[in-house]
This record gives sequence, C-alpha cells and structure tokens, in this order.
Amino acid sequence: MVLAVVASSPPELALRLAEAGPGWVLPLFSPYIDPVRRHVWHRVPGVLEAARAALAGGRYVGIGEVHVTSGLGPRRDDPVLDGLMALAERRGVPFMIHTEASDYRFFLPLCRRRPRLRFLWAHAGGILPPEQVARLLEACPNVWIELSARDPWHYGGIVGPAGALRAGWHELVLRFSRRVMTGSDPVYPGHEIHHWDRPDTGWDLLARLLGFHRRWIAALPADVGERVRLRNAQDFFGVPGRAP
Ligand SMILES: [Zn+2]
Repeated sequence: MVLAVVASSPPELALRLAEAGPGWVLPLFSPYIDPVRRHVWHRVPGVLEAARAALAGGRYVGIGEVHVTSGLGPRRDDPVLDGLMALAERRGVPFMIHTEASDYRFFLPLCRRRPRLRFLWAHAGGILPPEQVARLLEACPNVWIELSARDPWHYGGIVGPAGALRAGWHELVLRFSRRVMTGSDPVYPGHEIHHWDRPDTGWDLLARLLGFHRRWIAALPADVGERVRLRNAQDFFGVPGRAP
C-alpha cells in the first residue's frame, strides 16, 4: 500500500495509525469526540473548538467522515456543521461527507454554498445510481468521489458478473477520471457503528474489500485505472505516500 487516509472515533486513534505509517497514513479529524453522544456530536459542547485545535496542530489532513443523513446527526443548515465546513475551507483542507439521500439535490446546496471547499463524497452518496452522481459532479466542480463500501458486502451494485464496472459506472469513471478515488470501509456489518472501545470488525475483511476494487480497476484503461487507484488521491491530499 502506498497511501492510506483514515478516520476514527475518537479522532486521536487516527493519529496513532498515522504514527505507525509516517508519511503514508494520513489522518482525518472526526468531530465525533464524545463516545456517548456519537449521534448528536454537533450538540457536544466544544466540538468546534476541538476541531480548530486539532487542525491548528497540523497533524490532520482534513475533516471527516461527517454523516449528514436524515434522522441522524445534524440538519444541513446546522451552525456547527457549517462552522466545521468554514474551518476546513479556511485552512484549505478537504471535508469528507457522507450523505445517504435518494437524490443528489440533498447534497447540492452544501457544495454550492462553499465552492472553495473541496469535498470528498464518501461512497459517492452510498445509494445513488451513476446518473445521479454525475449530476452532482457536473454542478459542483469542488466535489470528488470515492467508492469505498460500493462493494458487494455494503452497498453493492457497481460491477457486473464479469467483475468490471457496469456500463453507467464505467462511463462516469471515464468522464470524471480525475475526481474518482477508491477505498475500503471497515464498518461491517453495517450496524456495528456504535463501538467506541473495539475495532470495526470489517478490518478483518480488508484484503477482500481491496481485492474487490482492484479487480474492477484492473479492467479500466491503464491511465484511468492508475488515477483511480492512487494518483487522484495523491493529488487531492497533496501527498505522494511511500514508495511502492
Ligand atoms: Zn460512510
């Protein structure tokens, strides 16, 4: 592995991982700083101050993953959420966001409101088909996508029986080849998101998750595959990682 970007609850654990992989494991700051109030993190006193101090420390490369889904976490117009985005924009670091709405227009006002903030859209919206993802990418040039958890054990649906991308996804990746990344989601099964004291069990599946992505990436034209596999992430985070 050349480059990895990690996030954790509590956020400090991502720093521990980064220490284990200096220069190639990059930590994001997660605003989920209270183990008991994980789902109302935006109402935890001091969360914005904690984010400010964390980014000022210079060790985190961005903020995320932040979930903005209906019935969980903040509303889109939440002042703490907006404060976090403003902070990332001011510091020039990316903001990784997870939305799970059935229409791209749920995310649209957020990326439009801050055109100078670079967003990484986790799982490309999770449940959205490629046509919807394309509409968002057309509307917001400040959004990149990553396809972690678009594997058969999470959201599924991006590859056909032969292991290559389905036509709509193939077209999308070719068209936006500089704005697509991949990754793995160690939250598995999906309900195991409430732990604070144990690793996500999906870490045991890491080889299988990455293997899934490697297969469809190998079926892309070589230059596009190289971008999706690594180069877009290097450009996006401004870090080359370690030698292969
Ligand atoms: Zn997610």
